[in-house]
Amino acid sequence: MNKNISEIVRPNILEMEGYSSARDAYEGTQGTFLDANENPYGSLNRYPDPYQQLLKQKLSEIKSVATENIFVGNGSDEVIDLLMRIFCRPSKDKVIGFTPSYGMYQVSASIQDVEYISIALNAQFQIDVERVKPHLTDDSIKIIYVCSPNNPTGNLINVKDIEWLLEQFNSIIVIDEAYIDFANMSSWLSKIKKYKNLVILQTLSKAWGLAALRIGMAYTNTEIIALLNKVKSPYNISSLNQKVALEALQNKKAKDIQVHTIKKERSRLRDELSKIDSITKIHSSETNFLLIEIDNAEDVYRNLISQNIITRNQSNKIENGIRISIGTAEENNRLLKALKENNSQRYSTSKFDCSATNDLINRH
Ligand SMILES: *Cc1c(COP(=O)(O)O)cnc(C)c1O
Repeated sequence: MNKNISEIVRPNILEMEGYSSARDAYEGTQGTFLDANENPYGSLNRYPDPYQQLLKQKLSEIKSVATENIFVGNGSDEVIDLLMRIFCRPSKDKVIGFTPSYGMYQVSASIQDVEYISIALNAQFQIDVERVKPHLTDDSIKIIYVCSPNNPTGNLINVKDIEWLLEQFNSIIVIDEAYIDFANMSSWLSKIKKYKNLVILQTLSKAWGLAALRIGMAYTNTEIIALLNKVKSPYNISSLNQKVALEALQNKKAKDIQVHTIKKERSRLRDELSKIDSITKIHSSETNFLLIEIDNAEDVYRNLISQNIITRNQSNKIENGIRISIGTAEENNRLLKALKENNSQRYSTSKFDCSATNDLINRH
């Protein structure tokens, strides 16, 4: 059913020869190195390992995936961009993404001049299979992006629908699992053996608390890994970032404790938010954020900013939607206090002076 990877990849990428760096030409680590025009002095004078072997070994242990099935990018965003460039011919090929979801898939498609077919998720923020079906026969569609748990809605995408896609779609399926550590479900990682067209994206930016490092991973079959290596810039992860990432990965327990705390706060924040009348909906979350719907979201968002509390206004994607990252207990309390005050002001205003409320509504 699935096509061979070589039938999906852009012909020029398939045929080109990748850059061969000094570290490719000679892989040993000991010796007198006079090959890469490095300055012989200093401590950061040498180019980093282009394939991040130590980092991959550690990831391999943690994830139970062979190192040869791991690619490390400068954030998942680099991987998203590389996949677009590997598989999609500008102004010819197309990709499918679901809305609302992570914005980078579409941005990356636009940069590459690739048509982005946006398919709306249904009312439960699940894939509407009937809307996907007509596209399955379109050979110019090279990638489908599935974000699960989904940003900004917070839910997992149904297993049976993802399985259906994996069975029916014969080009590349990317499952973005940036939030998987917060979810009550295991990763799709174990399926990369079964489905050659499956790419799993994960990141150190969320659960691992290392957004500043810019480390994102792709887990997939060796053929796609080879293509990613061919197209990436030769030294895409700095030595410093490789080192710090490796150190952080040694302490998985610290990560697990943080994830546990964040999940507890998520549940407390939900309980407290549910007591505020202006909040009309709190979506279920398998992530480190909560999507809420609140009366006059636009005004609430600005009001929070005026108190130095920054949330993410999602009302252009979800009516009256605001996305709130789970902070520390203290940060969450600050948010709750501001929202509760805002709520009581709103009610007292409307009780005594309806026009003031109307003004607020009409302003935007
Ligand atoms: C935060 C996030 C990422 C992470 O991107 P990095 O470039 O690794 O920081 C990826 N996908 C989604 C859906 C996200 O929300």
